[in-house]
Parts: sequence; structure tokens; C-alpha cells
Amino acid sequence: MSKNLTTELLSFANGQGADLAGVAELTQIAPEHILVSEGIKQRMKYAVAVAIRLSEAVLAEITDHPTKNYYHHYRMVNLALDQLGLRITRFLQERDFAAYPVPASQLLDWKNQKGIFSHKHAALQAGLGWIGRNNLLVTPEYGSQVRLISVLTDAPLEPSKPIRQDCGACRACLDVCPAQAIADDPAAFDHQRCYAKLDSFVRQHLVGQHICGVCVRTCSPKQVQDR
Ligand code: SF4
Ligand code: SF4
Repeated sequence: MSKNLTTELLSFANGQGADLAGVAELTQIAPEHILVSEGIKQRMKYAVAVAIRLSEAVLAEITDHPTKNYYHHYRMVNLALDQLGLRITRFLQERDFAAYPVPASQLLDWKNQKGIFSHKHAALQAGLGWIGRNNLLVTPEYGSQVRLISVLTDAPLEPSKPIRQDCGACRACLDVCPAQAIADDPAAFDHQRCYAKLDSFVRQHLVGQHICGVCVRTCSPKQVQDR
């Protein structure tokens, strides 16, 4: 494992626009969260997990449904994340390592909110935050107001340490969820209820993708600091 390479890579990611970055060891992520091809799974050892902070002001306009401006912002941040993933890929390949950027928004199974690789579980293992009652990554710095990307690699990186924090006494997102999908126990999060609500937003032509933003707006930096 190379500490220098890891430090150089994470500081490169920060310099290229990452607000948070860390390294997860793939063996620490449950297999059901890694659905990339067998060849990639065998070859790659680590995920570089990166977060970009969302605009708190754009989120603040959300009441009980997503706004058009949030939808635009969501897509632009995904684009920025994909570009950041390409730059990290280039950094690694220039040093003769393999790099596989996982797209920022890549859900295959919308109902169960699963993609080919879980950015959230990579970020959890990379020490970026914990999984909150809202079923999203919650970071100590920005709450859930971040979006994530991962680049898988065979580079000999040093994994970051997961952080030992949780939502504590906070229950702010339980009351605001328009689907009543959020429970006291994060494991009791109701994916089907959440999906049905997101689907209703698409059917009402509010947005073109299954997004919501209500619990993301609520899980703000201040909310997390005061929890
Ligand atoms: S995304 Fe919306 S519907 Fe789903 S848990 Fe959050 S607030 Fe509830
Ligand atoms: S709003 Fe509070 S309870 Fe909900 S995910 Fe954020 S910290 Fe956890």
C-alpha cells in the first residue's frame, strides 16, 4: 500500500473539485453492492470515493416535491462528478494502474434503488460519512447534501478509516418525508414507499428522473451539526 500515492491522489481529487474524498477497500463492501462484471471485480482492489456538495440554496426551495431547478442542478452535479471520475481515471492510468469510473447516476433497479456499484457503501467504507435514517450517506460536514462517484482501481492505495458516527437524536427527516418511508431504525427504511412517491413525481411531470430532494434538503450541514 502506498501512502504517498494515496495522499497525492486524494489531494488531486480535491484540487479538481471534490469536496470530500477517501479510499475504500472492495473486500469491505458486501458483494450485493458490487454488481460490476466478474472481470472488473477480480481485477480491482479499491474504490476512490468522491463527493461534491450540492447547493443548499437550490435545495432550500424544495417543499414537499422536487423543483425543476433542483432537477437541473442534480444533473449538472452528476455531470461534474463524471468529469471528475474521468480526471481521476487519467491520473491513475498515467501511472500505469487500471481505473474504472462508475457513472454517477447508474441505477439499474429503480424500485430497490440499486446500481452496478453502490457509491454510498464505498463512501461509507472510505470514511466520508454514515448511512442515515433517510437511507442516504450523511457526512459530518454537509449532511446528505452531497452527490457521489467512485473510481475502481488496482492501484496499491491505503484505505481510509470508516467514521464511527450516526444520526444520534436527530429525527428531522422522519416528519418531512411525503411518503412516510423513513423510520427510526435506518434498516427499516421503506424503499417501495419512497419509490412510489418518486414515481408519482415523474408521472406528474415535475421531473424527468426518479428524484425527490425533500430529505436531502432537511439533512443540512446545520441539522447534522445540531443533532
Ligand atoms: S427521497 Fe423523498 S420520498 Fe424518499 S425518503 Fe426522502 S423524502 Fe421520503
Ligand atoms: S435529517 Fe437527521 S435523522 Fe435524518 S438522516 Fe439526517 S441526521 Fe439522520
